Amino acid sequence: MRDVIIIGSGPAGYTAGIYTARAGLKPLLIASSVEAGGELMKTTEVENYPGFPQGLQGPELMANFQAQAERFGTEILLDDVVEVDLKGDIKIVKTGGGQTFEAKTVILATGAAYRELGLPREKDLSGHGVSWCATCDGFFFREKTIAVVGGGDSAMEEANFLTRFAAKVYLIHRRDTFKASKIMQERAMANPKIEIIYNSEITELKGEAKLEAVTLRSTVDGTESNLDLDGLFIAVGNDPRVWLVENQVELTPERFIKVEGRSSKTTIPGVFACGDVIDPTYRQAITAAGSGCVAALDAEHYLSGH
Ligand code: NAP
Repeated sequence: MRDVIIIGSGPAGYTAGIYTARAGLKPLLIASSVEAGGELMKTTEVENYPGFPQGLQGPELMANFQAQAERFGTEILLDDVVEVDLKGDIKIVKTGGGQTFEAKTVILATGAAYRELGLPREKDLSGHGVSWCATCDGFFFREKTIAVVGGGDSAMEEANFLTRFAAKVYLIHRRDTFKASKIMQERAMANPKIEIIYNSEITELKGEAKLEAVTLRSTVDGTESNLDLDGLFIAVGNDPRVWLVENQVELTPERFIKVEGRSSKTTIPGVFACGDVIDPTYRQAITAAGSGCVAALDAEHYLSGH
């Protein structure tokens, strides 16, 4: 029987590994068979992670996280968790590779997946003009012409934020009213660098080595047009990865795992959650890492009480 099993290998999962390993709990971290390292593996340069003044590549940062977790004895398994039973005192975790583990505590760090538009070149152009994170990549678009797609708070926030760098920001939305809160909409509408394109959806991403333009289709009459762009930020929502546990731990109305106050405690004793799977607001590598630390300390306190 294990003391701790950590599910997920982004900044939250690895930080939970570092802390629980240093506490002598010999954690098993199940890192996924195809997506080990999490969303940062899809990022190019990370310039805002404290401690790296020159910045570093996302995959390099995650390799550092992994090495640090392993240095203290975190056991890393490149497999996918396919089923869990968290209700009892002994938690059961099953993997796609056919292994079954038992643990006294489980830390859920399964993250959130940015929603994609589902267009053919989207993956190829990711990191080459197409981005899901204005905070991470906005800086690369100084004096450029870019667009944000989406109509929620994220799209408004990203569009406003990006006007610090870009010469021009188009805000492309598929309807003529926004889902975003009024105050966020008003801020975007009042920003002279933002031009709103209503009733339009993107049907094609164009460019070979990097994004050069998009095709827009009117959702009113179907007419198509071309829009030249240096960058496109996709802000059409994201989905916390909760399918594994959604019938066991309680979720928030937005479908994030519900935790108690500032802790990582879920509605099941001995089960903790951290990182983007609990965070509808900040979603940064550094906040996820901090949250992983919280989960490790909570698990440690729980075990010392048992
Ligand atoms: P969201 O509220 O779910 O909005 C997603 C937006 O993307 C909607 O306007 C939706 O259009 C559009 N969309 C979805 N799929 C699309 C597609 N395939 N093509 C084009 N457009 C598509 O997501 P979010 O903006 O990321 O916000 C998530 C949560 O975080 C919300 O609760 C939000 O309030 C919160 N948040 C708060 C702040 C803040 O307060 N500072 C900042 C960011 C986020 P439709 O409107 O047509 O459905």
